[in-house]
Amino acid sequence: AAPRSRGDWHGSGTTADGHPVTLLANIGSPADARAAGAADGVGLFRTEFCFLAATAEPGVAAQRAAYAEVLAPLRGKPVVVRTLDAGADKPLPFLDSGAEPNPALGVRGLRVAFDRPDLLRRQLDAIAAAAGDTGADVSVMAPMVATAEEAAWFADLAREAGLDRVGVMVETPAAALGGAALLDVVDFVSIGTNDLAQYTFAADRMTGALAGLNDPWQPALLRLIAMLADAGRERGTPVGVCGEAAADPALAAVLTGLGITSLSMTAAALPAVGARLARHALADCEQAARAALTAAGADAARTRARDALA
Ligand code: PEP
Ligand code: MG
Repeated sequence: AAPRSRGDWHGSGTTADGHPVTLLANIGSPADARAAGAADGVGLFRTEFCFLAATAEPGVAAQRAAYAEVLAPLRGKPVVVRTLDAGADKPLPFLDSGAEPNPALGVRGLRVAFDRPDLLRRQLDAIAAAAGDTGADVSVMAPMVATAEEAAWFADLAREAGLDRVGVMVETPAAALGGAALLDVVDFVSIGTNDLAQYTFAADRMTGALAGLNDPWQPALLRLIAMLADAGRERGTPVGVCGEAAADPALAAVLTGLGITSLSMTAAALPAVGARLARHALADCEQAARAALTAAGADAARTRARDALA
């Protein structure tokens, strides 16, 4: 075998000077779970992917079996299981909220459970049982949270189900702005940059013509991420990123410089991100982050960060 250079990735994330960054995989199926073998664990298990074809709500036993099939290859590894994230844009027939004029702003994610808490209770029970069946080290998190009150409500339900590590996704500007209050009621947060960009820039993530606004290098998005990372650091609470942003090696270095503690991405992106982080010292990542934060736009942020990392 060819000798490994200093920049090679050996399966765990660290900067060149040894600052740890947990590198995790995003999954939605048993095949994804097997592909996640080289990762430190799973930062996002999108459970709605198990039921895209289901016309009726799967019972607790059926959900337990579906989750256990995905979790089986992950025994002993940390896995963050996200509760169902469905809405008019990502429809699950059994969770149909009816036609909505603005699906992205409608009853989606955790909101589906507000008037149907038993639906969420059944899912949490199935997740807890599957964790026991497989020996995966499971945490749960909720999608599409806007307030600390919602986060606390979810955390109470999860703990009642016996799941004692609970987080929420930060996907709305409200959740990012309320970071301190949010962090007080959960054990970790994970920033969904795909939706956080969409809601920050009022730009539908499905509209190709607006891709420039949904560019994760946008400095306004990076500033929201920085605020949360600072709040997390003050409290010692982990703040991860699980959107597409984490899969861009240069941006991964910037996120590390902002104080993000874990990056979760499609498994195929892990080697390039891991190798890239291993090339840069934390201070260089921090300098690149400062340069990107004060840029006038996404392209300028990208150029400035690359110059700082060169
Ligand atoms: C996100 O919004 O960044 C995210 C990871 O969730 P999803 O892509 O499933 O909406
Ligand atoms: Mg999302």
